[in-house]
Amino acid sequence: MVKAIYPGSFDPITLGHMDIIRRIHPLFSEFTVVVANSTAKKYLFSLEKRMQLIQENLSDLKGVRIDVCEGLIVDYAKQAGSRVIVRGLRALSDFEHEIAMANINKRLNPEIETMIVFTDPAYSFIASRMVKEVATHGADLSGFVPANVAAALKKEYS
Ligand code: ADP
Repeated sequence: MVKAIYPGSFDPITLGHMDIIRRIHPLFSEFTVVVANSTAKKYLFSLEKRMQLIQENLSDLKGVRIDVCEGLIVDYAKQAGSRVIVRGLRALSDFEHEIAMANINKRLNPEIETMIVFTDPAYSFIASRMVKEVATHGADLSGFVPANVAAALKKEYS
């Protein structure tokens, strides 16, 4: 009975994030998407909006939970009884950041494992940052994000 968390900014959630959630959640007894909210980061969407956009896409995924973390992710994992942090790896460019974070988290709490999941190549080019940039030019976002996110981005930039 191993619980996992999938933390991230999800600003906003993309089809790449959804693919990881869909594929990985059945492997764990409990799977929680944890929306990070850091005062040091500037987000396009509020915490509430980021959570709403995720929640609306979880309706057909039984047992996937959603929560917020405003502090250290290992502290969150410990109090939630989660042994595993799931992270996605799109390309080599993600590697340095992910290994640095995994090593720091390991030092902070050696009992919590970071598990890296390779992205489906169909989604490996999708990043929230890029999607936001494309959205500012009014492009069709249907290949990058769920429909509710495309609508929210359109509204944001219209
Ligand atoms: P963070 O600010 O923590 O990197 P993100 O929302 O950008 O938050 O990403 C959360 C997790 O999802 C990270 O592990 C990231 O590598 C992964 N991820 C981001 N985009 C994709 C994608 N297109 N496919 C699969 N995983 C992704």
